[in-house]
Amino acid sequence: MDKKSKSLSKNQKIVLDFIQKNKKPVKAYSILSNVQKKGINAPPQVYRALDKLIEIGKIHRVESQNSFVACKISNCDTPHKTVFSICNSCEIVSEINDPKLFKNLKDFRDKDGTVFDGYNLEFFGTCKSCKNKQIENTKH
Ligand SMILES: [Zn+2]
Ligand SMILES: [Zn+2]
Repeated sequence: MDKKSKSLSKNQKIVLDFIQKNKKPVKAYSILSNVQKKGINAPPQVYRALDKLIEIGKIHRVESQNSFVACKISNCDTPHKTVFSICNSCEIVSEINDPKLFKNLKDFRDKDGTVFDGYNLEFFGTCKSCKNKQIENTKH
């Protein structure tokens, strides 16, 4: 366990644990109803835990789905810089970890020379397994 996980509160651990167990991003209401069984009843407690987990980079928010997903990059501590690939068909979300892309994003300036502190990118497409299924279906 790394330093950051050790300093998590009980509520944060419960919320993180639930998000990590899910393959797909989870919505706030689904987190709420699941952690209730573990004794967190007040929504503000859950939202506070989510905010903190985002802040320390343990989870990310998938804006287009308004959902939360565990960080898959072990040393990712950039809560305001996320790049996701999202499958239009099965809605699976994966965090993109591409050094080349990150370097370009880091050096990116708009024409007025604005320096950016964060970005929130989502790429949409068809994942490999959905693509294969589509090919299968057209064969029959
Ligand atoms: Zn991450
Ligand atoms: Zn898919």
